[in-house]
Amino acid sequence: MEFKPGRVFLLRVPEGEDLVSFVNGFAEGRGINTAIVKGIGSLRNPVLGYYSEEIRNYKRIELMGMFELVSLLGNVSLRDGRPFAHLHATLGNANGDAFGGHLIRGEVFVAEIYIQELLGKPLVRKDRGKNLSLWDEEHV
Ligand code: ZN
Repeated sequence: MEFKPGRVFLLRVPEGEDLVSFVNGFAEGRGINTAIVKGIGSLRNPVLGYYSEEIRNYKRIELMGMFELVSLLGNVSLRDGRPFAHLHATLGNANGDAFGGHLIRGEVFVAEIYIQELLGKPLVRKDRGKNLSLWDEEHV
C-alpha cells in the first residue's frame, strides 16, 4: 500500500497511562487511521507477548518492576472500524539485559513517542483465526 505523509506528533505520554491504550485513544481522538509509531522511555510492570505457532496464541511474558523502554516500534491500522496500535518493544533491566516482544501493556513512567500519520486508503486488520488479526494486503 502506498501512503502520503500526514500529521506528525512528538509527545510525552502522561505518567501512569497504559502505553498501548494511550496510543489507541490518541489515534482515535485525532482521527488517525494509519500511522507509524516509535518511542523511548521507561515502563513499569510491562507485559510482552510471544506468538507461539504451537498453541496458536500469545504466550504472556510478565515483567515486574521498572524497565527502560529501549525501543518502541509499531503501527496503527483499523480493526473493527477503530484505530488499533500494534506495538513491539525492547525493554532493558538494571543489568542492561534486554527482553523483547509484542507489547500487551505497560504502565508509563516516561514515554516520548513519535506518531507519523499516513494518508490514503486505511489499512484494515481482519481476524484470520489462530488469534491473529492481519492486514489484507500481503504485497503491493
Ligand atoms: Zn506483534
